[in-house]
Amino acid sequence: GARAHGAGRAAARYLWSAGRLDPGRVDLLKVLDADDLILSSGHWPASLGALDPAAGRYREPPGDRPLLVREPTPRGAAPSLQRWASGRWGGAAITAVVGRFLDTGALEEMRARLAVDLLALCTGPDSCLVTARSGLQVPEGRLLDGTHLFALRVLEVGSGDPAPTLVVGLDRGPIEQIRSGIRRRAVGIGAVIALLALGIGLLLSRGIVRPVEALATASGRLAGGDLEARTDGTGSRITEVEELVDAFNGMAGDIQRSQVRLVQAERVAAWREIARGLAHELKNPLTPILGAMDVIRKARRLDRPDFDDILAEQAGAVVDEVMRLKKLSDSFAEFARLPAPVPEPLDLAQLVDGAVALYTGGDEAVQVERCYAPALPTVLADRSQVQTVVTNLVKNAVEAMDHEGTLTLGLEATDGAVELRVEDTGPGIPPEVREKLFTPYFTTKGSRGTGLGLAMTHRIVLEHGGSIEVDDAPGGGAAFVIRLPVSGPEG
Ligand code: ADP
Ligand code: MG
Repeated sequence: GARAHGAGRAAARYLWSAGRLDPGRVDLLKVLDADDLILSSGHWPASLGALDPAAGRYREPPGDRPLLVREPTPRGAAPSLQRWASGRWGGAAITAVVGRFLDTGALEEMRARLAVDLLALCTGPDSCLVTARSGLQVPEGRLLDGTHLFALRVLEVGSGDPAPTLVVGLDRGPIEQIRSGIRRRAVGIGAVIALLALGIGLLLSRGIVRPVEALATASGRLAGGDLEARTDGTGSRITEVEELVDAFNGMAGDIQRSQVRLVQAERVAAWREIARGLAHELKNPLTPILGAMDVIRKARRLDRPDFDDILAEQAGAVVDEVMRLKKLSDSFAEFARLPAPVPEPLDLAQLVDGAVALYTGGDEAVQVERCYAPALPTVLADRSQVQTVVTNLVKNAVEAMDHEGTLTLGLEATDGAVELRVEDTGPGIPPEVREKLFTPYFTTKGSRGTGLGLAMTHRIVLEHGGSIEVDDAPGGGAAFVIRLPVSGPEG
């Protein structure tokens, strides 16, 4: 009875595991005795009484994680995750092992719980059990060789040779999308920055580069002798640039004022020199002349018998001194004279064109009209002095028109001379000015004029045996007419 009871109890124990398997949750359940003999197996009931192949492993205290174990089954070993516990069952020491075979269903469940896109269990280089989120394309062949579709993480689990591995993968698709999104945004931001830089560059160029260029141009003109050169610097709201422009204009103004003072001072100094020299030279002969007059007057009053001799003697002395004065005045005239002209036959048309081009080259607003008679004779004159004459007339005309208007040049042959006519469209010359035109130092241009241009012109023309006249131009402007004698037989 007791044995049958014992046998019955044993049979019940053998079947215990099978009754507790819960498909879908636990599909591995076994009970081992203290010698690792299988007392009961749910997934392989026929293994009853056999030595468990994983014996020894369950002697270690169970960890907090399930262990990956290749569990023998009727169809061969299969990977499984196992947990175990030791205790007593009907007075005997036992170990109960529960587990889950890692088939596709189990992997898929794990994958879903881990919320990853791919989960694979590999027990060898070529044998992987793979599950992936539906709709994802899983690469064929050896998964561990790496795939660019997934970001893979390979975990070694359990023991064995080779050790089984669990491969966790994340779909790269969304990552690539995020990356290309970032790249697009970077390009967009780059473009915005480039536009901003362009805008700032334009602003800077408006605010700095242009005023500075204008400054450079103005200082170039100033250096070239144009004392009127200024720059307005408008368009720059940058204080430093404005200050620079102001400083430049101030400096240009100073230069112009000091230049004007210099010209005036030079003029005064030159006159003072001449006056001092003249006074000194005049005083020397005057004293003996006065003395001689005194002697003569006294001799007359005293009715001296030798009056005639005295008179002759003193008159001789006076004549000597007067001769000295004459010599003095000649030498002053010499001193004031220009270098002696070196006459040569000149083509006036060519010479006038050259001088006009030189002088009006910079004035686009001045139109030059020419009216030259054909086949003009040459004139006999000093080239550089005639150039001075033409330049003075053209310069006065252009200044009278304030650098804007028409300059008319006429050349024609008259008897024995060639006549040059220079007309402008300026205001003309009032009668009171006309009288003093050729007087040295007469100018209506204040400190900007020297008053020497026409005086010099007048003298050069006369020294060449020519003439100069002022006339009215048809439009109300001034006309200057000079005549120079032709070279050759008639001249
Ligand atoms: P400057 O040009 O230095 O004043 P000039 O001897 O050349 O000296 O001329 C003297 C004056 O004659 C000038 O200041 C000006 O008043 C007058 N003048 C000369 N040319 C003309 C002209 N074409 N139109 C009007 N006035 C003139
Ligand atoms: Mg002049």
